[in-house]
Amino acid sequence: MVNSQKSITIGGVQISPGQRQTIDLPVAKLYTHTEMTMPIHVVCGKRPGPTLFVSSAIHGDELNGVEIIRRLLKRKDLSRIHGILILIPIVNSFGFIHRDRYLPDRRDLNRSFPGSERGSLAGRIADLLLTEVISQSTHGIDLHTGSNHRFNLPQIRGFLDDEETASLAEAFGAPVMINSRLRDGSLREAVAEKNIPILLYEGGEAFRFNEFAIKVGYLGVVKVMRGIGMLPPQKTSKVRNVFRATASRWVRSPVSGILSNVVNVGKSVKKGDCLAVVSDPFGENEEVIRSTFEGLVIARSELPLAYEGDALFHIATMDVDLPDDFNLESLVSGLNEDDFFPKTV
Ligand SMILES: [Zn+2]
Repeated sequence: MVNSQKSITIGGVQISPGQRQTIDLPVAKLYTHTEMTMPIHVVCGKRPGPTLFVSSAIHGDELNGVEIIRRLLKRKDLSRIHGILILIPIVNSFGFIHRDRYLPDRRDLNRSFPGSERGSLAGRIADLLLTEVISQSTHGIDLHTGSNHRFNLPQIRGFLDDEETASLAEAFGAPVMINSRLRDGSLREAVAEKNIPILLYEGGEAFRFNEFAIKVGYLGVVKVMRGIGMLPPQKTSKVRNVFRATASRWVRSPVSGILSNVVNVGKSVKKGDCLAVVSDPFGENEEVIRSTFEGLVIARSELPLAYEGDALFHIATMDVDLPDDFNLESLVSGLNEDDFFPKTV
């Protein structure tokens, strides 16, 4: 007997096979009596398959994921998917409106999972997302960016020791994959505890659209959909180099000052290479910040001002030596590099 596709109910709204719909899931009202919602778009395919959720703006200032989801919704082949696609472009509506990473109660939503119905505002939103969406999902992708003034090379973080998560990460095809432990209170931890494989994507920086990060994220979600059978496999797929990091560390500013000669994200560096020069405004006392190990620069501060101790460069390392011909171009072939590199400060 062939399995038939089921309908799905979110927020009391039933979406049947072949339908797609936007649902406004009520969250706490504003104190102006205005309704506040978490808008969710559900595409219920005609045929059975996985249920994938894609969430973004859990941090209200991280915008690339919102644009990734907007582009996904334009795809004509969504009418032919197997399974159910649940898109939540703005999980943290409060932070998004206030142009703030956090919630009005100053909590980090991504440290408030699993939350509870009777908990803090953050805890209630976390609980709502888990109960209404995630508990009905088989796979998940959570879209993020670097934080304020911090640019991240598009990267996937996930518990890659888990075979299924690792194969999703490979399908996504971001230039960098990092095996990272779960953090207390994150959506990723809450989802993984339900044995649902989930990827965390981080690309670009807060408050900015970055075309490269949007493209990699958009293509990554589509490739995961192909990988889990929601969309047909691609006829030809280019094999792309992926930097599979085993560890990553931050290099901090040794002194306070103004930065110049800053290395780009995506560059591979050797031990002793110059990452930036930090000096006073007169350029009299210059200090070179050098890499203390070999690796790939996967994030950097975009603000050319630093206090001593500020984390400036995030460098990922591999257990093995970098191949001689290793370069970012091989990772991102087919994408416009000009779209990607942020201007050098
Ligand atoms: Zn984030």
